[in-house]
Amino acid sequence: MTPDEYQDRILAEVAPMAAFPQRLLDCVGLASAEEVRSGVSLPGFDNSAMDGYAVRYADVRTACADEPVRLPVVGEIGAGRADLLALPSGSCAKIMTGAPMPTGADAVVPYEWTDRGAAWVSISQAPAEHQHVRYAGEDVAVGDLVIAEGTVLGPRHLGLLACVGRDRIATRPRPRVVVISTGSELREPGQQLGHGAIYDGNSYLLAAAARRVGALPTRVGIVADSPAAFLGTLEDQLLRADLVITSGGVSMGDYDVVKEALAPRGVWFGSVAMQPGKPQGFGHLGPDRVPIFCLPGNPVSSFVSFELFVRPALRRLMGIAPEVEPTLPATLTHDVPSPKGRRQYLRGHYDGTHATVSPVGGPGSHLIGDLAQADALLIVPAETTLMPAGSRVEVIVLQDTP
Ligand code: AMP
Ligand code: MG
Repeated sequence: MTPDEYQDRILAEVAPMAAFPQRLLDCVGLASAEEVRSGVSLPGFDNSAMDGYAVRYADVRTACADEPVRLPVVGEIGAGRADLLALPSGSCAKIMTGAPMPTGADAVVPYEWTDRGAAWVSISQAPAEHQHVRYAGEDVAVGDLVIAEGTVLGPRHLGLLACVGRDRIATRPRPRVVVISTGSELREPGQQLGHGAIYDGNSYLLAAAARRVGALPTRVGIVADSPAAFLGTLEDQLLRADLVITSGGVSMGDYDVVKEALAPRGVWFGSVAMQPGKPQGFGHLGPDRVPIFCLPGNPVSSFVSFELFVRPALRRLMGIAPEVEPTLPATLTHDVPSPKGRRQYLRGHYDGTHATVSPVGGPGSHLIGDLAQADALLIVPAETTLMPAGSRVEVIVLQDTP
């Protein structure tokens, strides 16, 4: 199976979660599950764009420095004033930014063009008709589409929703993701390491990756290579999971606990024509048919598998499209050898200014130090055995910035 075929197969077997109305600030980064049309117009009423004097254009159109126009000031209108004022011709009213225009007024003279008079004001520059007035509905009209279904909600969208009076919007919940590391050699960071033991990096890597997509990860931590212990932990965790990720125990070794425990329970295990990340497992568990991803244990394999398979599945659960983001083209700076028959995802550094990519470290799937130095995955097609410098390759840019 190619990585693309495997991706397609996963996406065919994962469905978006049910949406419900959530409070605006809980929706940052979530996809709208509804189309929102405005119930109000924006601005909601004609209002002033400046601090100054609301006038009738006809009264002031001749105003200039040599022949200022003098008008009586009949009132003062602050923002939030609810009473409707009418402006008699031959007069003006002091007005603040955002305050409702009095009826009859059709321009605002900014303070800067006046002597700022209180009872009478002298106006030394004429506004254009309608100048400095923000008219009702000029931005958003009643019935306008303000949020299309599927929009990934950012600050601008949430601000607009609030401006049209919405305090909630239907979105799919953040998937609860359970992350389990398997391996009798694993220890928690902060603990002492005996010979032959290593720290569990994967559960941190995978939980962090899930959180970055917008999911709610629970890092269960380490389970030893015992099918009974693994199944016990899984059963406990399944109750609170929308998606499960395990790492380790899926290849051909003697203690491949995940495969041993789950293959009889209908989870698929097999090979994907890629490096790293060849051994993979995927299926559904329990009465709720919770999707489970069984990723290989080497940290780079786990990470690449997350990017290619788990991230799209999480996006599908969250209703975010496209589930698989497009790759970017780049020019390779160095020769890279690659195994035949498997698409390789090498670690690289992507230079966006010059659209070049250079390899970072070697192909070994244990090289987490190099992985952390890289900022891109560099894709070498399956049939290529040597990618010469200067070739055009596709890259997946890895983004950590919020
Ligand atoms: P496995 O897939 O279980 O055979 O593991 C493959 C390699 O990845 C072995 O060298 C493991 O020790 C290593 N490994 C497995 N799980 C983790 C983990 N959680 N963190 C770091 N390395 C791991
Ligand atoms: Mg293992």
